Amino acid sequence: MDKYKAVCFDLDGTVYRGKEVIPEAAELISTLRKMGTVPYYVTNNSSMTTGQLKAKLSSFGIQAEEDHIMTSAIAAAAYCKEHFDGASVMMIGEEGLRAALLEQGFTLTDRNPDIVVMGIDREANYAKLAEACLAIRAGAAFIATNGDKAFPTERGLVPGNGSFVKLMEFATDVVPVIVGKPEPHMLHFIQKAGGFKKDEMVMIGDNYETDIEAGLRFGIDTIHVEGGVTSREIVLKAAKQPTYLFSKLTDWNK
Ligand SMILES: [Mg+2]
Repeated sequence: MDKYKAVCFDLDGTVYRGKEVIPEAAELISTLRKMGTVPYYVTNNSSMTTGQLKAKLSSFGIQAEEDHIMTSAIAAAAYCKEHFDGASVMMIGEEGLRAALLEQGFTLTDRNPDIVVMGIDREANYAKLAEACLAIRAGAAFIATNGDKAFPTERGLVPGNGSFVKLMEFATDVVPVIVGKPEPHMLHFIQKAGGFKKDEMVMIGDNYETDIEAGLRFGIDTIHVEGGVTSREIVLKAAKQPTYLFSKLTDWNK
């Protein structure tokens, strides 16, 4: 355990399930903090700000530093800063994405943007989608926070950002840059901010196709934990295996 300086936790399905904490994750996080390792959190959620996520974790008794919370919104804004600094941005998204783009100094606009950044927007309507389509067709770059098909709610799976991204892709014939997991951008930004070596980093998650795949693509160790999206049986059939497979996170002993 002490070989890692950046222990990166997925959130939903790994640290909590909707509104309930996963006690073994909270215990591991507390153990790591006592050892002097401050965990990172890596989530495709782009709707919440890091402040809101910090408050949510705190309501579960988990202490988290805001700058250790890497959302796909924070990463999308950082990606835009790296590649399109000073650009005007048309945003489809919620508070988390808005805050992240403004924090990076971007100007938000409804017309003729240089880039369109698309995250989950539960108030998306035809007019908004049409404006984004026109902008992309007119040459704006197309960036998406994440490509998640669906996400879990108390009532079951509902359309995720990826479903809207596919709609836009279909309408424009433009394939966006996707920033969230399984793409490795978020891990890259954590590495850059903390100056870590790749063998000092580990990605922990419940979803093979996003969490484990992101770690594999980035070239760091990975831990799959059961109880979420991907079952152990499915993981065992994958061509590339995670470094460790745990049934719960307290299986990880020093
Ligand atoms: Mg998850």
